[in-house]
Amino acid sequence: MTVDIATSVGQEALELLNHLGVHSSAYSGGNLNVHTPLTGEVIAQVATINADDATEAIATAHAAFLQWRIVPAPKRGEMVRLLGEELRCALPVLGRLVTIETGKLLSEGFGEVQEMIDICTFAAGLSRQLTGLTIPSERVGHRMMETWHPLGVVGIISAFNFPVAVWAWNAALALVCGNAIVWKPSEKTPLTALAVQAIFTRAAAKAGGVPPGLSALLIGDSSIGQQLVDSPLVPLLSATGSTAMGRAVGPRLAARFARGILELGGNNAAIVCPSADLGLALRAIAFSAMGTAGQRCTTLRRLIVHESVYEALIAQLKSVYASVVIGDPRDAGTLVGPLIDERSFRAMQAALDEARSGGATVTGGERVSSKDLPHAFYVRPALVEVSAQTGAVKRETFAPILYVMKYTNFADALALHNDVPQGLSSAIFTLNMREAEEFLSATGSDCGIANVNIGTSGAEIGGAFGGEKETGGGRESGSDAWKQYMRRATNTINYGTALPLAQGVSFDID
Ligand code: NAD
Repeated sequence: MTVDIATSVGQEALELLNHLGVHSSAYSGGNLNVHTPLTGEVIAQVATINADDATEAIATAHAAFLQWRIVPAPKRGEMVRLLGEELRCALPVLGRLVTIETGKLLSEGFGEVQEMIDICTFAAGLSRQLTGLTIPSERVGHRMMETWHPLGVVGIISAFNFPVAVWAWNAALALVCGNAIVWKPSEKTPLTALAVQAIFTRAAAKAGGVPPGLSALLIGDSSIGQQLVDSPLVPLLSATGSTAMGRAVGPRLAARFARGILELGGNNAAIVCPSADLGLALRAIAFSAMGTAGQRCTTLRRLIVHESVYEALIAQLKSVYASVVIGDPRDAGTLVGPLIDERSFRAMQAALDEARSGGATVTGGERVSSKDLPHAFYVRPALVEVSAQTGAVKRETFAPILYVMKYTNFADALALHNDVPQGLSSAIFTLNMREAEEFLSATGSDCGIANVNIGTSGAEIGGAFGGEKETGGGRESGSDAWKQYMRRATNTINYGTALPLAQGVSFDID
């Protein structure tokens, strides 16, 4: 099988950038080569920021914060609503650029922008609901309450695979909460970041009253990210990426007592029980394991199947894996696009070799390419049947590899499920209410996301998103994730004439 790329991807990318209002000086003649994974070719050259300019951008954002924090929250929400409107207009163009820069399918590129719009809608409503509690006081004539205040500059470090949605999850909440934002996108995806910054600038102009530098973009490598990590002007850093990145970032944040939202790697599993609706499970597994060419943090990487349904399910999965269309993600029939780069391909092959040498049976996993595209890395997703959960099975390899294991007792399946260092997303396929409820209970899945009869990937923005253990413990997006972007003050108000002390303490000075 070969992959055929019809039109010039580079030319299309430049047209999309132009359409989105990014000036050509921003993506030509710079020192950072931007590749498209569709062909591997260089499609733009973006200028990276130097350390001094990054320091200045953070200081300007801090100055913007000092003004933004006194803008009433519903007015901040109106600005974010306008950002959502701009994104709505930009959706088809920005979505296509996401596809060209990351290699994800067009529907996924559009979906990523839809997610940005959704979180703007959510945050605009939230801007009128940043509510605190009133709390009964033990003292006569006293009242207690909580007040939520803006925090400062929120740093955002993002990964290549969700190049714009992760920014939006953080930005929309941070902005309505009264903060400024400074973004260090992945060095692999600066074009979509430039486009989003242009979109933000338009929304801010429409809103009026937005202080300059409220949203800054720092294009650069991890050293620029480290400036955000270490800056005393950044009280909260939301960092999305590998566990290795989190290991570097976490202790540095802790050293200066800064807050972190760490959204790191996953090693997500699903359990398929004897009563499962196998047709539904098959579709869910296929999307979770092969979607985005296995390059989602929530990608299904481990499948734990009851012995009674193992043969039937694996036979069907093999047939889907053998026939799935791999190719240009802009084509309607394609289901699996390219890996991001050669490094990713090598990591996949190394994991498969390790599995083979451990006695696993590997189906698929080979490179699918045309001799015209030596620098593009298309692969057939791999199914790897293993008898034990060791070695590479316990690691996240950011590629379409699904390790399959058999179980006999439900308790063993749960134990296998939780016996990895990561704790992001999980799923169970069962029609047995006891199994489903146990999976969701305190003794069940140890992940931040636990699903029943749907796959591990494709979360909605309404819920809090994030995971446990080496996934970092952060939560962003919906539910009450906004509280991390504000500081909480507990207020006690005495409206009486006496001064009773808490816990009956007496301290009479006369
Ligand atoms: P990566 O860790 O290589 O890079 C992520 C970002 O961190 C980049 O912007 C990079 O420049 C920056 N960075 C790296 N080291 C840094 C350091 N020491 N200090 C400051 N910044 C640093 O990840 P990637 O290859 O771009 O993305 C894939 C990884 O991201 C996978 O592990 C995936 O699971 C994870 N991911 C997690 C989530 C989540 O929400 N949990 C979402 C998307 C991706």
